[in-house]
Amino acid sequence: MKSRQLLILIGTAVVLGAVWLMLGGASLFTTPKTEKLLMCGNADCANEFKAQLPVKFQDYPAKCPKCSQRSAFVLTRCWRCSAPYPLDLKHPLEKCPKCGCELPKY
Ligand SMILES: [Zn+2]
Ligand SMILES: [Zn+2]
Repeated sequence: MKSRQLLILIGTAVVLGAVWLMLGGASLFTTPKTEKLLMCGNADCANEFKAQLPVKFQDYPAKCPKCSQRSAFVLTRCWRCSAPYPLDLKHPLEKCPKCGCELPKY
């Protein structure tokens, strides 16, 4: 009788595990993602969009869903006029594209 109870226990555990995986438990093993506000650096596009990126994502530029080019950076706002601009850490803008004020260096 003991071994039968054990089998039932194992069977239940397997079923529960499968249900847990189906309900999204598997996401624990994938990279955590976060929503970021990005802006396309393409002057003709300048699309602002939200993207789910891995928390430690550093592989910029990201792909823009509008012009489908890899030209999107984190959207940052000018400290003075709050105009949005894409923050390209490798080639940061020195001046705000709108008001022309000096932008902080990152
Ligand atoms: Zn774009
Ligand atoms: Zn500005």
